Amino acid sequence: MDELTSTLDDTAACPTSTRASSHERHFESDAVHVGIPRAGGVPLAVPIVAAAAFQFDSLQHGADVFATNEEYSYSRLQNPTVEALEARLAVLEGASHALVTASGQAATLTAILSVCRAGDHIVATSSLFGGTSGLLLNVLPNFGIMTSLVPNDPAAVEEAMREQTRLVWTETIGNPAADVPDIEALARIAHAHGALLGVDNTWGGVGFLCRPLAFGADIVTHSLTKWAGGHGAALGGAVLVGDAHDLTRNDIFSCGSPSLLEQRGAAALAWRQRWLGVQQAGMILAPHAAHLLTLGVETLPLRLRQSCESALDLARRLEAHPAVRSVGYPGLPSSPHHALATKYLSNGFGAVLTFEVDDPARLLSRLSMIRIAPNLGDTRSMVIHPWTTTHGRLPEAQRLASGVNARLVRFSVGIEHVEDVWSDLERGLEM
Ligand SMILES: *Cc1c(COP(=O)(O)O)cnc(C)c1O
Repeated sequence: MDELTSTLDDTAACPTSTRASSHERHFESDAVHVGIPRAGGVPLAVPIVAAAAFQFDSLQHGADVFATNEEYSYSRLQNPTVEALEARLAVLEGASHALVTASGQAATLTAILSVCRAGDHIVATSSLFGGTSGLLLNVLPNFGIMTSLVPNDPAAVEEAMREQTRLVWTETIGNPAADVPDIEALARIAHAHGALLGVDNTWGGVGFLCRPLAFGADIVTHSLTKWAGGHGAALGGAVLVGDAHDLTRNDIFSCGSPSLLEQRGAAALAWRQRWLGVQQAGMILAPHAAHLLTLGVETLPLRLRQSCESALDLARRLEAHPAVRSVGYPGLPSSPHHALATKYLSNGFGAVLTFEVDDPARLLSRLSMIRIAPNLGDTRSMVIHPWTTTHGRLPEAQRLASGVNARLVRFSVGIEHVEDVWSDLERGLEM
């Protein structure tokens, strides 16, 4: 397959089945119906198609499939289980195209490399998921792609923009600082400089809490490992794009004759992401994982609504607790990010809060139900000490710039009864 996918034209079919129809139904309904055809005898759940390859009837059939890419041939190119998840995510995010990948990291890398190459520059807001900072600061510079990390503030982003800036990158709710970017302002700045805005919307719950594309973002990514899967049972990622972006000032798309833009039109960006991330780099999601993640998406609205409600309740109680020095949660009126959170988030303010205590080790050692684990968006509540774990490998200055300090505890609120979560926390906080 490799030689056949190594040129632009051989990978012609970015499946158009991920194209979103107009969003007529509510999120809760689309989350359980999209991707399952309505027809007699068809399974009423997305089946796991565990096959690397699909058969051809004849020489001619094989030639036709390779020429048009309108049927399945090889699961690195497309697989029915994976495609059903893509179709569902596109509708939920209000995107034109969705691509799923092996992990959130694979999605971030695909999104970045789809618009940047050696010599290009990225401006990113600094309170990022640790793995994203790692890619931007430790991996991509080796390939000539440099990043300026700036405070989560439009003026700072504007000031850092350069001639070679191709991408502005931010997160819907920063991890773990729980800051909310002004998405519309960042989109205006990026577009004025001929760049795109990418938003890691993992904390936005595949569109349930936030749909960045509707606020002017051009690329949205997800770690599906978190709220989408929702049960801590599989890793996955997604890259979603709309049709409105302007690529005319990016050489990757505008150079050559015919240029990629001339060849692919509005689908050029989505086409390049599929070609690069899965067909060439092979960062595909396995059908078994796609199945688990598709099941997870079906109950995301129920789970996330409950977790957000509990998170707000717990944030208020923690704020009033004498052993807690501070609480970071955009749903609290005391949060400096509350106004932007109110503008950009719906259905809740997210299921993660952070708080500072003098002795995090003591707190963690006293918990009996809440788990200590480096994950988010699980059905179970879990805590982590970012200073020594998720952000532990970053230099101290970067950790502080990300909003992490040695007293900070990150808390991902699950779907347990809120009183059980609170009594566990209270025991941990006893002085
Ligand atoms: C977890 C996470 C990622 C990385 O996703 P993986 O699935 O672990 O590769 C990226 N961004 C955010 C905000 C995350 O929480």
